[in-house]
Amino acid sequence: MKSDLAILKSTLDAAGAVTVLTGAGISSDSGVPTFRGTDGLWRNFRAEDLATPQAFSRDPRLVWEWYNWRRELIASKQPNPAHHAIVELERRTGRFWLITQNVDGLHRSAGSEKLSEIHGNIWMVRCTACGRIEENRDVPIPFLPSCRQCGGLLRPHIIWFGESLGHEDLMRSTAALKQCDVLLVIGTSGVVYPAAGFAAVAKEAGAFVAEINPEPTPQSELVDLVLRGRAKEIMPLLL
Ligand SMILES: [Zn+2]
Repeated sequence: MKSDLAILKSTLDAAGAVTVLTGAGISSDSGVPTFRGTDGLWRNFRAEDLATPQAFSRDPRLVWEWYNWRRELIASKQPNPAHHAIVELERRTGRFWLITQNVDGLHRSAGSEKLSEIHGNIWMVRCTACGRIEENRDVPIPFLPSCRQCGGLLRPHIIWFGESLGHEDLMRSTAALKQCDVLLVIGTSGVVYPAAGFAAVAKEAGAFVAEINPEPTPQSELVDLVLRGRAKEIMPLLL
């Protein structure tokens, strides 16, 4: 009898269309904090108190100080073998799409090109006046950053609590979920919506769904195959 690892490997080899969904687990394999719960505490503020449009309009300096702290922490982190394995999967798969909930930009650093960063990217800024988006890798970013086009206040290009996902990202992701032969769900707790519902969308559309996570998650029951372990150890074995 073939092991689950061998089954998933041959299923991936035969797949014409592969979609990958990643969450905090793949980033924590690179040493990136989750910024949730006690992991997100900074000067006694919780992430939930700072990553909101209300917090930013009340005190943009405070929110930018927090993002500077996060940017500084993330700047020293590198992609791990799981990020690199996903790049290889993209290169060898006919139709590939990566959906990530992570904002650290490590997938792009590794070389991923076909991806939706559905919660944004901490290295991108957006003008609150004209909507212009640009990359900004300053650490720390000088206060208060302003738009070079219109002088408006810049904010992190991140989806905050209470904000909706970008329309284009959502359409692209939904299409990739509905059209894939295989969906890999990697290092995501499966509790943050809408991503928590993505495995079900792919499954209903007929995809083979596999989960790679050290712990059981709410979606473990629904998937076709589960590999328990860290993404950085399992992903290279699949390729
Ligand atoms: Zn502007």
